[in-house]
Amino acid sequence: MHFISSTTVETKYIFVTGGVVSSLGKGIISSSLACLLKARGFRVTIQKFDPYINIDPGTLNPYEHGECYVTADGTEADLDLGHYERFTNVPTTHANNVTTGRIYQSVINKERRGDYLGKTVQIVPHITDEIKRNVKYLGNTGDYDFVITEIGGTVGDIESLPFLESVRQLRWDLGQNACCVHLTYVPYIAAAKELKTKPTQHSVKQLQELGIQPDVLILRTEKEIPAEMRRKIAQFCNVAPEAVIQSADVPTIYEVPVRMHEQHLDEIIMRKTGVEISGDPHMDPWMHFLSKMKSARETVKIGLVGKYVELQDAYKSINEALFQAATYNDRKLDLRYIHSEKLYDSNADEKLGDLDGVIIAPGFGQRGIEGKFVALKWCREHDVPTFGICLGMQCMVIEFARNVLGLTDANSTEMDPSTPDKVIDLMEEQKSISNMGGTMRLGAYECRLADGSRAAEAYGKTDISERHRHRFELNNDYCERLEAAGMKCVGRNPSTGLVEVVELPDHRWFIGTQYHPEYSSTVLSPSPLFIDFVKAAISYSEDRSEK
Ligand code: GLN
Repeated sequence: MHFISSTTVETKYIFVTGGVVSSLGKGIISSSLACLLKARGFRVTIQKFDPYINIDPGTLNPYEHGECYVTADGTEADLDLGHYERFTNVPTTHANNVTTGRIYQSVINKERRGDYLGKTVQIVPHITDEIKRNVKYLGNTGDYDFVITEIGGTVGDIESLPFLESVRQLRWDLGQNACCVHLTYVPYIAAAKELKTKPTQHSVKQLQELGIQPDVLILRTEKEIPAEMRRKIAQFCNVAPEAVIQSADVPTIYEVPVRMHEQHLDEIIMRKTGVEISGDPHMDPWMHFLSKMKSARETVKIGLVGKYVELQDAYKSINEALFQAATYNDRKLDLRYIHSEKLYDSNADEKLGDLDGVIIAPGFGQRGIEGKFVALKWCREHDVPTFGICLGMQCMVIEFARNVLGLTDANSTEMDPSTPDKVIDLMEEQKSISNMGGTMRLGAYECRLADGSRAAEAYGKTDISERHRHRFELNNDYCERLEAAGMKCVGRNPSTGLVEVVELPDHRWFIGTQYHPEYSSTVLSPSPLFIDFVKAAISYSEDRSEK
């Protein structure tokens, strides 16, 4: 292991841009590079600059932007930050996700304060200076050897121009301490049976017109790109032949660091930025995970009940936490999405009967909520391992209050403000809030678990900290009745007394968490609760097959 001492060598800045089309996986490439550098002993962080005007993605619905990720410091962030944490095990913060909205807000605040001393405030230099200041913020803490900056969007978008202009200037300011990686797409034209390099050439040309010469090109492709073709791209684009790297589709994103290392991406970046190369990255724990993944033969069938089933990014962190948990339990994950708007008592047997475990998804609003109650009642009565997350936990409490306590109109005041039994209610401090952006209960809070509870057993300790994103909470007035009927409140915030975890101890595995354990589950440090849930699902499936 070796570190670049921040006193002798300055922080290295790696910029990652994308061209041709969106959704190529810049986040995965940035994460993979960070994973390799981290495995070489460097201190690495990744940040995302998003060109949209929203201050953060917290107010965007999942159709717009997939999942909203939450950092421990309570930032509602782009889902790529989830990849960054899952691949590096390094926590991200407010500083790791910056939007155009944040940049403009800060410049406009400075203008109102009079900081610009009578000058006309312009995109260049004021907006670009603010972007540059934000790019260098984490580097200036002295905590990192490498700061990887992913520029959202695609080269050629109007919105990303100020960011690319800032990268151009930073390249100039930072000299050898900066390096640019450009990700493009090489399509395969089936009718001609050919891979086409023209879109890549155009995209690099566009970048060059903006004054940025990429040092490394990463080509996303569905087919192997012949060496000859890569040489041709190198020649057309002024990039060294060995710095033209292909990133072919792989069965899981967790293979990408290995594929990148095989083509020496980490070494190329180190050489470009003047960092001495010695030895290989220490990838043993990562390779152990991959080998477990590959050797798993049997599957575990988990159902995810939610209303965004057609969107593959809406429950990203839950999918990944489940995948990690299945892998560590030596199982392939067979994840089935169950549309909560299409689940009724009449089809519950058919939709749920085959599952080893069920997750009731987080969410907002009335739509699809009835299906969550159907699933919960069915799972409770059939004693299926069940995991309720955030709204899923709140639904657990409502279903139990209605069908076990007999409070037939019990509800959350989010769904029915005039319910006679507000078993889930707005938190006191939320009642006066009118602004929607960034005002939920966000980020990591302490939770104390009851000794002997299933949750405490799963974590192997009673004091934990997990991340939140909600406005409503279990109404403590109902705890006594819930507990008397068998639903135990086994996790509480030690300072406020808010209930964070409920469980049915007389069931196989029936746990609801007000927090989101999926946000802190990483490849090298998977969520103990997800691991335990999948373990329970496996043992349930084994019990059934014995019968
Ligand atoms: N809508 C619920 C609340 O605000 C749950 C939120 C969630 O599931 N993230 O409390």
